[in-house]
Amino acid sequence: MNDIRSMTQQEITELLRSLGEPAFRGRQLFAWLQKGAESFDEMTNLSKPLREKLRETCLLTPPVVARKQTSKLDGTVKYLWELADGNCIESVLMQYHHGNTVCISSQVGCRMGCAFCASTIAGKVRDLTPGEMLDQVIFVQKDSGLPVSNIVLMGIGEPMDNLDNVLRFLELVNHPEGQNIGMRHISLSTCGVVPGIERLAERDLQLTLSVSLHAPDSETRSRIMPVNRAWDVEELFRACHRYFQKTGRRISFEYAMIDGVNDHDWQADLIAEKLRGMPGHVNLIPLNDVAESPLKPSKRVAAFQKRLESHGLTATVRRSLGGDIDASCGQLRRKAMQEKGGNP
Ligand code: SAH
Repeated sequence: MNDIRSMTQQEITELLRSLGEPAFRGRQLFAWLQKGAESFDEMTNLSKPLREKLRETCLLTPPVVARKQTSKLDGTVKYLWELADGNCIESVLMQYHHGNTVCISSQVGCRMGCAFCASTIAGKVRDLTPGEMLDQVIFVQKDSGLPVSNIVLMGIGEPMDNLDNVLRFLELVNHPEGQNIGMRHISLSTCGVVPGIERLAERDLQLTLSVSLHAPDSETRSRIMPVNRAWDVEELFRACHRYFQKTGRRISFEYAMIDGVNDHDWQADLIAEKLRGMPGHVNLIPLNDVAESPLKPSKRVAAFQKRLESHGLTATVRRSLGGDIDASCGQLRRKAMQEKGGNP
């Protein structure tokens, strides 16, 4: 079966040509998919025999809303999607003045093992296909009626651990006859998979790379992020400098503030030292309390921000949206799994 939602417009056109159809049919079919068609029968400008042939040869399995929570505080909507194979993933729709942003997942679960993160507790189940990533963008808009202009790959999963599919997703979501979302409106976040950063640098895309730093010294970082044992902070910073040199794009460093672990002034000083020669931006995130984790939110966010700024760095504190709806990574999926009894 063809995974038609993961196919480019050109590939769809070639597929239809192989079924004896003219090129414009490919564009029509692509347009239907991009609008969030849920069955071939909806595609009324395609002939019945063609729709029949498509049904026999192509998978068309849209995600289903398993749960949806809307924040009363700020209108943030969290979606729990059920995929064709019964697995669940999350997306979050956030409304900002500059436009609506959807945060999407790249894998079912995650194998990176960060100590503070709910997405990784039960490990990775599988990668998402490019179409399953694209569907999150399409169906969030279809369900909410709100147009999306920005995408962040900051949901469940490690994008660099599924980079081939992520790159194809970027190509799909960029298409002018589809979602038409430009690279400058897309952020990709990684926990620090160095070979992935290097591959992305070679592509020289205009997207924003976010690096989940969370500690500038290897001792602390290895304690909370196992990925640091494979590629330590020194290697990571080297890759970041190379990325900036190659792409000219400023990197955003994510830093979840954890009480007594990574919130010391000397760590702010070390960040500044490591970023010298590169226009870094540090995004401080008040730690979301994950029930299973002993790590607690830091009380030094403002002081740490000041310390970074004293070195001339740009540091912002992430405004937390959806605080009343488990809107941070993996928490809703985890809750749903526990209720189903599907996980220890
Ligand atoms: N795997 C990628 C994409 C996930 S992005 C990455 O690690 O970058 C999600 C962001 O939220 C990451 O910066 C992650 O480290 C952070 N995060 C995870 N759990 C958190 C928590 N409990 N509190 C605050 N930030 C958290």
